[in-house]
Amino acid sequence: MGRYTGPKCRLCRREGMKLFLKGVRCESEKCAISRRDYPPGNVNVRRGKVSSYGEGLREKQKVKRFYGVFEEQFRRYFAIATGSKGNTGETLMTLFERRLDNVVFKLGWAVSRGEARQLVVHGHINVNGKRVNVPSYSISKDDEIKARPGAQSQKRVKARFDETKGRQCPSWMVLDGDGMGAKVIGLPSREDVSIPIQEQLIVELLSK
Ligand code: SF4
Repeated sequence: MGRYTGPKCRLCRREGMKLFLKGVRCESEKCAISRRDYPPGNVNVRRGKVSSYGEGLREKQKVKRFYGVFEEQFRRYFAIATGSKGNTGETLMTLFERRLDNVVFKLGWAVSRGEARQLVVHGHINVNGKRVNVPSYSISKDDEIKARPGAQSQKRVKARFDETKGRQCPSWMVLDGDGMGAKVIGLPSREDVSIPIQEQLIVELLSK
């Protein structure tokens, strides 16, 4: 029998892909997906051909789990993407990428998007000098993101910041010298989205 790896890993196993829901564990050899040490019977086995509707639903589910958003929020993002110029699917994915909790995670200030969300909700992040405690806050070009002193004094968070020093952050941001702040110098593009997803299937699903 495969080892018990917790509900989050079960989600990855169900989707058959790494959703990076457990922070550093996901990058380590402890990852259940990397080890592939679970018996085939532990995952949902899909028999027969999956309809395009089913494929679209599955892709949507992956995105929701990856970014930790609910259906209602997802629909709001889709409405914004539909009303925007350009490719709807690509715009949709970049909107998720611009979420403040995702940005905090990408800066390396938290081990997972879930932990990043906690940092934001607990008021530890400033944007342009003001406290922002809304994880879905959408960052814009020229925004300055800074960890508040309260976060910097937390042992666990401090350790993460220290690890961040000198670390490469996404190309659309520049880290301050002390690693505790960053400036947004551009906006993420589709290439910056790390989850392997066929967003076109989602667009087809939701446009019917
Ligand atoms: Fe678990 Fe993370 Fe691996 Fe998913 S990617 S199976 S959450 S350790």
